[in-house]
Amino acid sequence: MTALNEGWFTEVFQDKGTAFSLQVKRKLHEEQSQFQKLEIYETETFGNLMVLDGCVMLTTRDNFLYHEMMTHPALFTHRDPKKVVIIGGGDCGTLREVLKHPGVEEAWQVEIDERVTRLAEKYFPELCDANDDPRANFFFGDGIQWMRDVEPNSVDVIIIDSTDPVGPAEGLFALDFYRDCMLALRDGGIVVQQSESPLLHTETIIRDIHEDMKKAGFDHVQTLPFPQPVYPTGWWSCTMGGKDKPVKYFREEDAAQRPFVTRYYNPGIHHGALAMPQFMVDALDDQVLPGEA
Ligand code: SAM
Repeated sequence: MTALNEGWFTEVFQDKGTAFSLQVKRKLHEEQSQFQKLEIYETETFGNLMVLDGCVMLTTRDNFLYHEMMTHPALFTHRDPKKVVIIGGGDCGTLREVLKHPGVEEAWQVEIDERVTRLAEKYFPELCDANDDPRANFFFGDGIQWMRDVEPNSVDVIIIDSTDPVGPAEGLFALDFYRDCMLALRDGGIVVQQSESPLLHTETIIRDIHEDMKKAGFDHVQTLPFPQPVYPTGWWSCTMGGKDKPVKYFREEDAAQRPFVTRYYNPGIHHGALAMPQFMVDALDDQVLPGEA
């Protein structure tokens, strides 16, 4: 549920008894695509804001937290990622982070709604500045079907940068989809999924992701929390699954010497994100704390 009262955009989380507001200067765009309602606002202090079906997706000011955490922990956990696939991620922010890794030879963004990308190009051009990179490939269609069709053993890292698990994204939080990811990945492959709020979803969505990834054959599963001020509770997470390799160890030296700029991610942040809050350890009884392995 959303409201726009007296110059404020408000996303109401009715069942949680909370709401999040940003003061806006004006609405820049609104349309109904084949898949969802898209809105863009200019805010007073967070730059531009993208809203899909009433849910805040990203702002200019704080998207780096999410995009860096969806990308760099997974890519520095894989030994040598060459082919990376992003499912969803139409705003191109994750693609931009992936292409910062010089070893990546090929990156695909598989987004169901081309309009998200077209609006990102117009209103978030800084997220799209790698779109002309010859390694970047775009497919506009359903990521679930794409994963069924992709050649087995052909991908190193899969990043599921999706909307919440409703509508077309529901099937991206499902055992069958993780099984297809498992088939698509080469040995040593990593899957990482945006996994909602630790505070709200540890015992529901996050636990289900752990169980389903394990059933699909990902022996090692780890949730990494990080801040995201504009999402419900301000606290978000991604969950990584390793095909045949623990995901709590990473290429720390390479991360420390990364030949590109980050604003949030560094090896200390990576270590910190691997340390599970106790309530998550208790709820996801499969967690091993760093140093306890
Ligand atoms: N950062 C956001 C969050 O956590 O809410 C996600 C941003 S990104 C814009 C999510 C994208 O996933 C949307 O553009 C949506 O169109 C896309 N999407 C949803 N279901 C999909 C599917 N089945 N295949 C491919 N893309 C999908």
